[in-house]
Amino acid sequence: MKLTFLGTGTSVGVPMIGCECATCTSTDSRDKRLRTGLLIEQAGQRLVIDVSTDFRQQALRAGLTKLDALLITHCHADHVFGLDDIRPFNFKHGPIPVFASERTWRDLRRVFYYIFEAKHVGGGLPQVTPETITNFEPFFVGDLEITPIPVIHGKGEVTAFRLSNGRASVAFVTDCNQIAPTSLEALKGLDVLILDALRIKPHPTHLHLEQSLAYIEELKPQRTLLTHMGHDIKHSEISRHLPANIELAYDELILEL
Ligand SMILES: [Zn+2]
Ligand SMILES: [Zn+2]
Ligand SMILES: [Zn+2]
Repeated sequence: MKLTFLGTGTSVGVPMIGCECATCTSTDSRDKRLRTGLLIEQAGQRLVIDVSTDFRQQALRAGLTKLDALLITHCHADHVFGLDDIRPFNFKHGPIPVFASERTWRDLRRVFYYIFEAKHVGGGLPQVTPETITNFEPFFVGDLEITPIPVIHGKGEVTAFRLSNGRASVAFVTDCNQIAPTSLEALKGLDVLILDALRIKPHPTHLHLEQSLAYIEELKPQRTLLTHMGHDIKHSEISRHLPANIELAYDELILEL
């Protein structure tokens, strides 16, 4: 299984428009974060988790020529506003299965109402095959087993995904400030955990670094990559305080498992 971090930034990206802080003006490429997304390649199948606002740029940068499935964590702008940019894949290969919870589909159908209008006239539409997933009920894309796991994001629910190819297991857990005990159980025994760590100070809808570290301590994955980071987190400064098996992810980082 090959993982490519398409983006590791929070909703405004890093640098943030108009900001002159040390991270936003940093020349370290690891401080340049597009909005959060992950590409998973397994046995010829290419899956993407979340089509961020920056998806077009991310797909070009990663040399993505085919997309076999899309998994959506939740319908916030920074995770879905790249949906229109799946059209070039549709031109070549037709509709793409999109996996999301019932709750996320309800929001997606409102935000992207025109895609589902029977009588839409004019304009190219992204072609999606909606697949509704249920928490804790595994499904397969190719030979990859995927388990949706609910996490708490303020007043909303976000879907985390655990992916296994039978040899290695990875979980992508973004946009949450709390993880319920049943979900924590489902996140044990991981080779790689990719976890939300928005900033240093507490935040009402995201994990801050100290909370992320506490969950890592409880879950004990072999390796953790932190993501969805804002400009509070300057890569070189924060990463040197982290234990060896906990790292800050950065854009275009590739892991082979
Ligand atoms: Zn987000
Ligand atoms: Zn800044
Ligand atoms: Zn969100």
